[in-house]
Amino acid sequence: MKLPQHAKLVVASHNEGKVREINALLAPFGIETLGAAALNLAEPEETGVTFAENAILKARAAALATGFYALSDDSGLVVDGLNGAPGIYSARWAGPTKDFPFAMARIEKELGGNPDRRAHFVCVLALAAPDGNCETYEGRVYGTLTFPPRGMRGFGYDPIFIPEAQRFTFGEMDPDAKHAISHRAKAFEKFVAQALR
Ligand code: IMP
Repeated sequence: MKLPQHAKLVVASHNEGKVREINALLAPFGIETLGAAALNLAEPEETGVTFAENAILKARAAALATGFYALSDDSGLVVDGLNGAPGIYSARWAGPTKDFPFAMARIEKELGGNPDRRAHFVCVLALAAPDGNCETYEGRVYGTLTFPPRGMRGFGYDPIFIPEAQRFTFGEMDPDAKHAISHRAKAFEKFVAQALR
């Protein structure tokens, strides 16, 4: 699907960290974006059982409600030693107050003495046209978990995740360094190749 030139794009997320990163990734393309919060869009319930299903339902709801193209992001942390948890429930593990120190401590507790510290982040971006037609783009970044959390940058689970071949957690990295290798940046590259070129 191609995003028509000069089309406005709704960034269909209420997560400030994601909106900040998506806006930074979109900035070089001169696309005018509208925020879901500013448009007073409702947050649809994430009833899907995959990242792609949830991304599609968020993008489609925003496109149908506004009549604009919409880009959504469904993402999360998949921990090998926890059989893939928290996965699509990554946001929900932090509870209604979005308490990520609590969610990170829960991962540490549930891993217990398990020496398998492998994990990866997944990001599925979905682009929906005003008629509800949708396309998805997936990116992943593999790494290991470290406890206690390190670094105050980024958001969510960034302080416990060290990407492969790096010394620092996403929480310690400069935002540009994270954008060079992140799951979101990789999904974004596919979006650019399909929708913007
Ligand atoms: P959802 O896609 O709105 O269900 O929420 C995804 C959740 O996954 C976020 O609230 C974060 O907890 C986590 N997550 C997704 N991407 C990242 C990231 O880049 N860094 C840290 N945590 C992330």
